[in-house]
Amino acid sequence: MNISMDNQTAKNGGQSDILLEQVRLVFASVPFSATFIPIVSVLLSILLWDTVGHEAILGWLSAIMLVSLFRWWQYWRFQAAQPLPEDTERWWRQALLGAALSGLSWGASGLLLFAPESMPDQLFLTFLLVGVIAAAVTTLSALFPAIMFFLLVTILPITWSFFSLGTNLGTVLAGLFLFFMLLMLKTAYRLNSILAETLTMRHDKVMAEATIHHQALYDELTDLPNRRMLFDHLGQEVARSFRHGYLGAILFLDLDNFKNVNDSLGHALGDKLLKAVAQRLSQRLRQEDIAARLGGDEFVILLSEIGKDSSQASVRAQRVASEIQQLFLEPYRIDGHTLYVSASIGIVLFPLDESDPGDLLQRADVAMYRAKEDGRDRFRFFQPAMQKALDTRLTIEKGLRKALETDQLELYYQPQVKADGNIYGAEALVRWQHPERGLISPVEFIAIAEETGLIYRLGDWVLNAACEHIRQLSAVCPLVVSVNISPKQFREPDFVNRVRDLIVAHRIDPKLLHLEITESTVLDNIEQTIERMEAIKSLGVSFAIDDFGTGHSSLAYLKRLPIETLKIDRSFVSDIVDDPNDAVLVETIIVMAKHLGLRTIAEGVETREVLAFLEEKGCHNFQGYLFSRPVPFQALMDMGGSLLPDEMPAVKLVQRVV
Ligand code: C2E
Ligand code: MG
Ligand code: MG
Repeated sequence: MNISMDNQTAKNGGQSDILLEQVRLVFASVPFSATFIPIVSVLLSILLWDTVGHEAILGWLSAIMLVSLFRWWQYWRFQAAQPLPEDTERWWRQALLGAALSGLSWGASGLLLFAPESMPDQLFLTFLLVGVIAAAVTTLSALFPAIMFFLLVTILPITWSFFSLGTNLGTVLAGLFLFFMLLMLKTAYRLNSILAETLTMRHDKVMAEATIHHQALYDELTDLPNRRMLFDHLGQEVARSFRHGYLGAILFLDLDNFKNVNDSLGHALGDKLLKAVAQRLSQRLRQEDIAARLGGDEFVILLSEIGKDSSQASVRAQRVASEIQQLFLEPYRIDGHTLYVSASIGIVLFPLDESDPGDLLQRADVAMYRAKEDGRDRFRFFQPAMQKALDTRLTIEKGLRKALETDQLELYYQPQVKADGNIYGAEALVRWQHPERGLISPVEFIAIAEETGLIYRLGDWVLNAACEHIRQLSAVCPLVVSVNISPKQFREPDFVNRVRDLIVAHRIDPKLLHLEITESTVLDNIEQTIERMEAIKSLGVSFAIDDFGTGHSSLAYLKRLPIETLKIDRSFVSDIVDDPNDAVLVETIIVMAKHLGLRTIAEGVETREVLAFLEEKGCHNFQGYLFSRPVPFQALMDMGGSLLPDEMPAVKLVQRVV
């Protein structure tokens, strides 16, 4: 069943499902009535043999037999056909025809077998007809037109016969028959309504169950199998491949730059693109392969039995991956837009070891990431070396969770120095005090925290700890503390409120809190970013763009951002003396910042030469090993706002509070 069909179709489909059930009920009664009717008809004929003309009896009996045979024949055809909802109308007409013929033959008895001069025979006939009518009401009421026609054609002739007797009794009986007909019609109508209601309820329940089942196993947007169904199939496929000695493969596919489509053209169009991709993928697969959607722009293709050994399987998997890439060569045309989309694919073969579906998907995911790192629009096989990286990642993820719970994180601070030699601020840099490994650099775990979502808790911890430190510092020497905010953390809906709450809770001067965001955070969604930055700025907090120069910033948006500082990336700063390109770039950034009314700070200042160059070009804020490495908070407090002159040979540092 396809749950994506529109409501009207579903409704019409539902109605014909119910009507077919009603037709089925009518046919289900045929064996009983088409057996019972010939028997009673013969009995009636015997009873009336002496009073009614033999030709009439035999003629009527033949009609009854023919009709019964016809109804049996209809019944067998119906059973053999196993009709579908689309055949409903045809079988509805057949059911009506059977009921009409049966009604007509019984109606004929009211004229042909009516013995005007024999009251007992009239009673026999009446008695039998009433019985037949009562039986018909129970069996034919499922279809109201059928029972209505049956009642009219069976009752009216005998009513007429009684009426034609011209006696008072005859007229009374005719009246009674008419009354009986109305009563039966009403009963049939009620029965029909109850039946239709019951069938509708049953149908709705079945449909609801089918929908729930479908939703549980299929992706709503693309109607492809979802993660759960993929896991089930993959589990079965792994077991089957083990048994039969075959290899299969998983292709983990992620669209390149899909986010840009969503951001620039809207989610509705993004959804249409995903649907179109799903359609192309499923059209190209073999019957036995499965394309599933894991969520977002991630698809998985499960190829079963593609080789007896890994080299054969690799070649085939590679061929399918190339074919899939070919699929993307043709642009997608959606709502007047021509979209060029590519995909990065990670491939893993199975079963090469005891891995379960979860492990396999994770490996394919890792290989897909490698394809992205290597430049996108390509495929990569999973390699054992990637497994090592994956294991490390998992260990870090697990450890970091524990670190957050058991307070193993610590904030270090790296002083930020003015051209005149004063420390005016410090950047908070998180460190992980691992019980076995010692101090771990954020380079090792921030990216993993981002990927796994742990960054929310980690970022919040950092912000809270930094605010607490600002408060403590305020008593000794108020420094502006810069806190790195990851893109995910910045996007958190409650982020602005959280910043406000922390400022209030720690009773700090918001001017002492400075947030560093990266170009990627800004580019992610410029409008939303600006709105959010404005809200935070209105609290009194300022912003810097960190690692400036590594992203794809444009002047156009830089002008609109409510920032105060550009932080020139270390990679350019460290090479300015040797690399003329970097020197030009850094100089350009400084000039541009000046024009925009922004401050610049150079990070990674390690030598006096670099410092001299920067000063000459007009950069007046510095951070780097030349001044100080990041130090624990207590050490920053001990510095009391200045570095000892012998630790800082290039510039004179005196304690001065900003
Ligand atoms: P970042 O924000 O660009 O921080 C500057 C990094 O450069 C720091 O590395 C710092 O120790 C290093 N650095 C500063 N001066 C020098 C120098 O003269 N020479 C050299 N070679 N390096 C220098 P760290 O502490 O390892 O942090 C690395 C990155 O991790 C940070 O880069 C930042 O992106 C991220 N990070 C650190 N703490 C946090 C945090 O609390 N939250 C978030 N989201 N990211 C953080
Ligand atoms: Mg930073
Ligand atoms: Mg930086």
